Amino acid sequence: LAEKLQNALGKLKGKGKLSEKDVENAMREVRLALLEADVNFKVVKQFINTVKERAIGHEVMESLTPGQQVIKIVNEELTILMGEKESKLEFANTPPTVIMMCGLQGAGKTTTSGKLGALLKKKGKRPLLVACDIYRPAAIKQLQVVGEKVEIPVFSIGDKQSPVNIAKASIEHGKKNGNDVIIIDTAGRLHIDEDLMEELENIKNEVKPNEILLVVDAMTGQDAVTVSESFNEKLGITGVVLTKLDGDARGGAALSIRAVTNKPIKFAATGEKFDQLETFHPDRMASRILGMGDVLSLIEKAQASFDEKKALELEKKLRNQQFTFEDFLDQLQQMKNMGPMSQLLEMIPGINSKQLKNLNVDEKELVHIEAIIQSMTKEERINPSVIDGSRRKRIAKGSGTSIQEVNKLLKQFNETKKMLKKFSGMEKTIKKKGRFN
Ligand code: GDP
Ligand code: MG
Repeated sequence: LAEKLQNALGKLKGKGKLSEKDVENAMREVRLALLEADVNFKVVKQFINTVKERAIGHEVMESLTPGQQVIKIVNEELTILMGEKESKLEFANTPPTVIMMCGLQGAGKTTTSGKLGALLKKKGKRPLLVACDIYRPAAIKQLQVVGEKVEIPVFSIGDKQSPVNIAKASIEHGKKNGNDVIIIDTAGRLHIDEDLMEELENIKNEVKPNEILLVVDAMTGQDAVTVSESFNEKLGITGVVLTKLDGDARGGAALSIRAVTNKPIKFAATGEKFDQLETFHPDRMASRILGMGDVLSLIEKAQASFDEKKALELEKKLRNQQFTFEDFLDQLQQMKNMGPMSQLLEMIPGINSKQLKNLNVDEKELVHIEAIIQSMTKEERINPSVIDGSRRKRIAKGSGTSIQEVNKLLKQFNETKKMLKKFSGMEKTIKKKGRFN
């Protein structure tokens, strides 16, 4: 996004005067760049109009360098879009302050509960973590482990009581033990459903939280925005915690959530470690977005750093169908964090984008894929045909994935090889006959 924006805005630099048409042109590109960053289209529309209104006319004309003025406006408006100022936690007048963490499964509620506890403890609070996820196996244990790591007590009365009762009991417990902040870790679901909302609402009515923080995974982009919108409608949240910003290269979710829900992003999590939670600063995020490379520029970088010799070797292997999981893993590690898998695979000589479509490699699957390959023995990587049922089981267990996932990867791998075979066969024909059929 950043470079795109900068390119768009860069065109304005060095001009003495800024016409309405200049601004229009630049904004068209800004608009595209924002959409590419997965910003909600309604938000983009509004944003562009606001910037245009401010940019065209006297404000810009009177400034010294028109280009700089526009950059400043875009930066300011991006900041406003994300809430302008930091938004602090609300504490109860009479302790304990109750903070309810909610969100979908895997968003990072449990981890963030621990991080938030640690942050508050550093500020002299005495937090208590409460285990209200009674559904996911080992969820209680997970919170207990988190509690041990950050040295914060965890309240749990097993999974036989209802979450509402657990939450209620935790407040009593907290009061007795001098805990001034109670952080309730609730259960999630894979998707929003009525049961979940009802349960959360019951907890809310029972404990009257000072904060209802929605934890959302920034990497899910537009989905994070939709999730925020519906949690806010159904439950009424007081703020958002954006997690996994370490993995989100686009920043689109951060831009849209505030605009769509009108609720502030209060914290940003940037890693799995317990000190990787910080107050969300809209201005810093705006600068980060403006100064951050987009997928295209990452690909350019990747392309530049792609070792020519290695590429040639790989090409030869591909053509001779000696491509093994070892090579695959090697590629994965080189490409990690560089952009969408499909786009990166396109850079491998001999693979074309249409053929990639049926491969369907999802970015989020990459981590799993890597774990699966790493759980294979050297023999298995070089000669995957030896991977029988019991080996599949072992690999799934070793990588913490499922047999289905292992099967899927093996299938994808075979498809890749088949595709390459076809491809090189086609080429041989072309070489021989000068055409391919
Ligand atoms: P919950 O189901 O909402 O309670 O989610 P968890 O707290 O169990 O987290 C799910 C996974 O996301 C775990 O593997 C966490 O380590 C990971 N996670 C949570 N927050 C972050 C973050 O900010 N960055 C990264 N990279 N991983 C995170
Ligand atoms: Mg959890």
